[in-house]
Amino acid sequence: MICPYCENEMRKGALSSCKPINWKEETGFAAWVSGAFGLDEHLLTSDERMFSSYVPAFFCDECKKVIIDTDIS
Ligand SMILES: [Zn+2]
Repeated sequence: MICPYCENEMRKGALSSCKPINWKEETGFAAWVSGAFGLDEHLLTSDERMFSSYVPAFFCDECKKVIIDTDIS
């Protein structure tokens, strides 16, 4: 994959965690409340394994950016 920021070749790898990997908006008190109670978070992958999450990802050595596909809708 070519990096959309610097156009260098990206390395294929993965984000992995022993917990689900989520994304949430970082705005205001409502976001803090939803984060505190684990609400309104979006799972980044449907590929959850028994004890871990795994998201295929591309990493750019030049920009230090990671690009992934998500299930966010
Ligand atoms: Zn780059």
